Amino acid sequence: MAIESFVTLKIAVPRPIRHYFDYLPPVQGPWRHLQPGYRVRVSFGRREEIGFFMGFNENPNFSAEALKPVLEVLDNQLIFDGHVFLLCEKAADYYHFPLGEILHHALPKKLREGKSLEKTKFAKINKSTTTKEDHLSLNESQKNAIAAIQRASSFQVFLLNGVTGSGKTEVYLQVIKKIILEGKQVLVLVPEIGLTPQTLTRFAERFSELSVVLHSGLTEKQRLHTWCLSRSGEAKIVIGTRSSIFLPFQNLGLIIIDEEHDLSFKQQEGFRYHARDLAILRAHFQKIPIVLGSATPSLDTLFKAEMGKFSPLFLPHRAGNAELPACKVIDIRNQFLEEGVSNALLSEIKNHLNANNQVMLFLNRRGYAPLIICHACGWMVNCRRCEKRMTYHDFSKRMHCHHCDYQKILPKQCESCGEKKLQSIGQGTEQLEQVLQKHFPSASVVRIDRDTTKRKNAMETILNDIQSGKHHILIGTQMLAKGHHFPNVTLVGIIDADGGFFSSDFRALERMGQLVLQVAGRAGRHEKKGTVMIQTHHPDHPLLHQLLKESYKVFADTLLIERKLAGLPPFSFFALFRADAYQTEIALAFLQKIKEISVSNQKVFLLGPIPAPMPKRAGRYRAQLLIQAETRPLLQNFLKKLLPEIEKISLKTKVRWSLDVDPLEMF
Ligand code: ADP
Ligand code: ZN
Ligand code: ZN
Repeated sequence: MAIESFVTLKIAVPRPIRHYFDYLPPVQGPWRHLQPGYRVRVSFGRREEIGFFMGFNENPNFSAEALKPVLEVLDNQLIFDGHVFLLCEKAADYYHFPLGEILHHALPKKLREGKSLEKTKFAKINKSTTTKEDHLSLNESQKNAIAAIQRASSFQVFLLNGVTGSGKTEVYLQVIKKIILEGKQVLVLVPEIGLTPQTLTRFAERFSELSVVLHSGLTEKQRLHTWCLSRSGEAKIVIGTRSSIFLPFQNLGLIIIDEEHDLSFKQQEGFRYHARDLAILRAHFQKIPIVLGSATPSLDTLFKAEMGKFSPLFLPHRAGNAELPACKVIDIRNQFLEEGVSNALLSEIKNHLNANNQVMLFLNRRGYAPLIICHACGWMVNCRRCEKRMTYHDFSKRMHCHHCDYQKILPKQCESCGEKKLQSIGQGTEQLEQVLQKHFPSASVVRIDRDTTKRKNAMETILNDIQSGKHHILIGTQMLAKGHHFPNVTLVGIIDADGGFFSSDFRALERMGQLVLQVAGRAGRHEKKGTVMIQTHHPDHPLLHQLLKESYKVFADTLLIERKLAGLPPFSFFALFRADAYQTEIALAFLQKIKEISVSNQKVFLLGPIPAPMPKRAGRYRAQLLIQAETRPLLQNFLKKLLPEIEKISLKTKVRWSLDVDPLEMF
């Protein structure tokens, strides 16, 4: 029997499947021009999908009978720029995530859905390349940093490590100016645009017509527009959140990552990539410089700078006439606290308000009280779905679960013993707001947390009102720590610095240090000298001392020594398998199976499986298996062999599972 020779098209579909599917060529229309990354429409299961051509299979060793033809070829040019396609391929490899899904996410929604690129036409933006005159006279450290970055003609990673208010943004603006005068484009990645519209304003003012912004608040049409302007090279500066790392550029000359330590650069679900790490990869193969800026760099980044992989640039002083704030530790052991606030802090607040300045208070717990308990029997209001305590919110008079968003009304009595009086324990931002309003009735108190900023533009309104001096006392969660510049804030109070000391997450101390310094960094950023007061039960903690009295660098180096002794990242490499199911046993059994099929190795360790630090969430039981390796290649090779085998585990249907390479959070 003669076997007819035929060709198939290998297609990556946007599904959680790590291999490609074979299709026959389309019945109509040309297809020999296809190149990897071209979009095609295919039928997949009972639906149609927009998939991506990956290559031809010229001599398949299977029958053509069961194969379907590609329904339509959508592109006659590569929709990605070659660099983005390469980035997606490398990311698929590194994160062991299906390429079809990565390519899908790299495109604006309209293009994912099959919109034709040729039909996507937009009004051009004004092409003038004039930039405004800047009047600042730069200080020596700024000049040195700018010169060093400008000298880089190929790939180089700079760590711009400048204390809060040292003028990092000014350094960015100056280097950007040179790049766009050379006709190239700049990508600026920022943590969360909604939280820091000020940074945007500064870019927009300096380079009025040249910049575009990409963030989650845009409509799909606007996103597509930005994508097109970036691809065509018309947008000279693109400022965006983490997903902007997948934008196409005509002529990219520089990448800047502002607040490189910020957790929001890491996507925590689905495709768990780190935008900073992908940015470095992209800069590497595009042979361009990249600047990581932070007052509190991540330990991973600091370590790379110490190893000589990144070039450190320091801005040790605040810019202009501003000075770093004076930090005072308030020992609250045995002190009377009024809803969590000490007398020392209250009287300092009074002084600053009397001097017509603004005061900022930081408490990383929204709601009124994190715990409602029965005084008679100790029963607590817990979330049924997460088995964790619920937070009482006064504005809604309801209990909220901060883990799964489940809500219920405040119970009228104890569900265990019937006692009518339930007590609240601990403070959240709502309670802090009330106690301060009571103490300072003539002051305007504003609260900034997820509850008060949910509505569109709410954050912007609040920030404007702070700038204009309408509010006197600002109370907020970590949202307040992010890059804000309020010239009139002279006192920053940290209500509770102790949380970070006792977490099970080995990164908790690093985060605590970053948060404390970032919040403290909001004080005294202009002419008026700032004060920071930190309430703690551990005033003599050596790390707190290093952080406040010495420097972030000393603090970070101590933590790095501890990590080294314990063999933790960045001195080893982690990957985390997570699984959840309706029964703990099933989640654990699935991970146990992974452990069993793993090819054991002297240098790769498997720890677990164990229930996750948060063992139940939204009704599902969660477990994890940690992979630890001495080197990155060891870890990567191990995972590469393992993943195809996992696809074969039959239990898979009963669990949801994921792999997190370089996990940042272990819950
Ligand atoms: P960072 O980004 O390091 O926190 P910014 O760039 O926001 O610091 O700078 C803090 C403030 O100092 C801003 O108001 C900025 O305009 C100002 N500034 C920056 N560089 C200088 C300088 N060389 N001389 C005077 N003021 C400066
Ligand atoms: Zn009770
Ligand atoms: Zn819950």
